[in-house]
Amino acid sequence: VIESHCRVCGYDDVGEERWTARHVAGYVICPCCGAESGVEDIDLRLVRRHRAARVATNCPWFDPDLRPDIWDFDLQAERIPEAWRQNGAAAASSPSGPP
Ligand SMILES: [Zn+2]
Repeated sequence: VIESHCRVCGYDDVGEERWTARHVAGYVICPCCGAESGVEDIDLRLVRRHRAARVATNCPWFDPDLRPDIWDFDLQAERIPEAWRQNGAAAASSPSGPP
């Protein structure tokens, strides 16, 4: 299975191969969180650290031009591959809740 969703934030670069079926990194830099496949997402500890740092800074986009007008961290985070989710903690620490 080819991975096109970001392991850190769930963003999907349609057509970009972050990881090939043979687990070879494509070194794709995520326009949303800035994580590079094969660098920031090689293990769960790194993925969690990068995601936590992102939430702590209120999720700035690496490439703001690609940020949709309507964007929701929680909705996008639902697309994070199961193995790379933070056990239930992601929702609790999300910055997109009521002010
Ligand atoms: Zn990302």
